Amino acid sequence: CGFESLNLSPNVYRGIKRKGYRVPTPIQRKTMPLILAGIDVVAMARTGSGKTAAFLLPMLEKLQQHLPQSGVRALILSPTRDLAFQTLKFTKELGRFTDRMESQFEDLAQNPDIIIATPGRLMHHLSEIDDMSLKTVEYVVFDEADSLFGMGFAEQLHKILTQLSENRQTLLFSATLPSALAEFAKAGLRDPQLVRL
Ligand code: AMP
Repeated sequence: CGFESLNLSPNVYRGIKRKGYRVPTPIQRKTMPLILAGIDVVAMARTGSGKTAAFLLPMLEKLQQHLPQSGVRALILSPTRDLAFQTLKFTKELGRFTDRMESQFEDLAQNPDIIIATPGRLMHHLSEIDDMSLKTVEYVVFDEADSLFGMGFAEQLHKILTQLSENRQTLLFSATLPSALAEFAKAGLRDPQLVRL
């Protein structure tokens, strides 16, 4: 079974085709139906598993389905600047046929739909830019969450969580699930489904 059974919009599907993907990877097959159904997910997945597309494709689908609103709609937190930049590039590739969406990295001067940033950078911008709010965010991803925690971002992550609306979907992708991270997931996610390969 391929991507067809996910009922993605034609424009999202075109992005998949253009990337040359024919069938979903195991982690994509397990997580994408849950994510598309609006369920919070904790996924144990390593780099190389196709985890990035597993959260980017449902994000692109969801951002297409709703009417454009003002304010940030999706937030992806990455442990490093380098990963954030790679994820931005990937978002642009997969989303090339979807409605124009502004995604920004680091320099958050204009009103982006999607923010991809490290926690430190995001906190810095939140304190610098008065009218920047995370209240409108519908879709949050903690990517490589074990690294996010391992790099000492835990306190910032908790602060970021308090600024988000309760009415959001939260996804956590991690290679491992240390106990501090499991606690965090309990606090920040709503009845999360745990997905392992
Ligand atoms: P990631 O685990 O997100 O770092 O992805 C690892 C690599 O797998 C990237 O080069 C992706 O472009 C590629 N990839 C992701 N999904 C698929 C798929 N369904 N079929 C083939 N390659 C894929």
